Amino acid sequence: MRIFEHPEFDHHQQVVFGSDEASGLRAIVAIHDTRRGPALGGLRIYPYTSEADALTDVLRLSRGMTYKSALADLPLGGGKAVIIADPRRDKTKAMLRAMGRLVESLGGRYITAEDSGSGEEDMRLIRQETRHVSGLGHDGLSGDPSPFTAHGVFCALQSAVRHRLGQEDLKGVRVAIQGVGHVGAHLARELHAAGARLVITDVDRDSLGMLVDELGADSVAPDAIFGAEVDVFAPCALGAVLTEDVARQLKAKVVCGAANNQLSTPGVANSLHARDILYAPDYVANAGGVIEVEAQRHAHYDRNAVMRHVERIAATADEIFARAKAEDRSPAGVADQLARERLRG
Ligand code: NAD
Repeated sequence: MRIFEHPEFDHHQQVVFGSDEASGLRAIVAIHDTRRGPALGGLRIYPYTSEADALTDVLRLSRGMTYKSALADLPLGGGKAVIIADPRRDKTKAMLRAMGRLVESLGGRYITAEDSGSGEEDMRLIRQETRHVSGLGHDGLSGDPSPFTAHGVFCALQSAVRHRLGQEDLKGVRVAIQGVGHVGAHLARELHAAGARLVITDVDRDSLGMLVDELGADSVAPDAIFGAEVDVFAPCALGAVLTEDVARQLKAKVVCGAANNQLSTPGVANSLHARDILYAPDYVANAGGVIEVEAQRHAHYDRNAVMRHVERIAATADEIFARAKAEDRSPAGVADQLARERLRG
């Protein structure tokens, strides 16, 4: 397995493979960049079919964290960790404590937090071995960053609607949400309260049914969400959902959601642009979670200040959309360029 020639390698500062025989831990930590601060990024626990897949994921995700934190104006770099395991079957206390020791061995250059497959309880176990962990909550409140992520997506979505549809508010704007889990459900409630009309889907029929009843939203089958007659498509389930095929199918004029790594290939951003679909770069729109997780690390936690910081996502999105329009190119390329400019300082 080659690292320096890997297509996702982007001058990562450090890539660490960790294992623990007793607990069966097999993990990779990627520290992409620490120029702006320690590399904070979640711990993903996933049954990767190969080590190569795990490496690809951690390299890509850690770079994404660098760009996300830079554009969210946080004093953080970018990193990520993956454990090759099925979180429902293989995750044990011993494995998480071994992961904690791996994080500790990096001396604070990497700070871990929740991601898919890991939760607050897991972070408490990791905390027994290292203080370089966040997402444990504050003042007895939950550490779940999802409401902050959803609010940031809401702010970016408002900005995108203003730029593409010329509408200041969201009254009557039709939004299709793919995935109404932690973030998608909060987003659905905020959009509903702002007067948007919702079409939602989820593979989990129970979560879907509850939200349909609560908000009076329309629901469709998972495959039908791309072709829904809406103004905005909000991917809040999986990564790599924006393929060339989906870009052709979409009726929406705006794409703005919470999912990480939405573009299946970088070229899809150009296809969306060619069809005059305004794409809100995922790591700009979904930065609310990392803003909250960073705030939780500090003794003086001020929820209102965190919310004000999250709301600055709208101004960043405004800047990206304005520059994309002036230069007639995709907001995805503009966001990457802006992030690189901030990293150079
Ligand atoms: P979640 O697991 O709580 O919710 C995802 C939902 O999508 C689930 O309800 C699941 O059933 C549904 N789903 C899965 N496959 C689907 C499909 N093919 N079609 C329709 N629905 C499907 O996860 P979450 O915490 O809400 O995160 C959602 C996305 O946002 C993820 O990509 C995550 O990486 C990203 N994200 C989350 C946060 C956060 O604060 N939680 C922060 C940044 C980015």
